Amino acid sequence: MQCLACNHEAAVADFGDPLCCPQCGILYEMAMLKKFNLLKAELEQVKRQEQQLREDSERTKAVTEVDLQSMSLQDMKAFYDPPAAVASGFNTRFLTLLGFMTRLAFASIPALLVLWVAALLLKRFLGLGWLS
Ligand SMILES: [Zn+2]
Repeated sequence: MQCLACNHEAAVADFGDPLCCPQCGILYEMAMLKKFNLLKAELEQVKRQEQQLREDSERTKAVTEVDLQSMSLQDMKAFYDPPAAVASGFNTRFLTLLGFMTRLAFASIPALLVLWVAALLLKRFLGLGWLS
């Protein structure tokens, strides 16, 4: 008979009654319980790793399952090098657009003044001018 805790081997009679290891003194039932708990923990660990591997492989599958054969060159380019942003439509409420355009109109006044001053300076100092 072999002890489950220390692997000591001895005759069954040496283990006595109740069964108890003559080497390390552990009760056989206690050693069995410890071994059982250890195996249970290992099984849980293996299950967790297996689950993780399954999730990883499904993620990889999703990526590799893209049908490259049927892709156009443009699709392929977009797949491997996707654009930062794509505008596929422009839909807004009228008042939102009105507000934006009004602000744009007012904001362009100082910008036009800057351009006008720049044009005057170009004309005066470099003779390049389209303003009279
Ligand atoms: Zn033992």
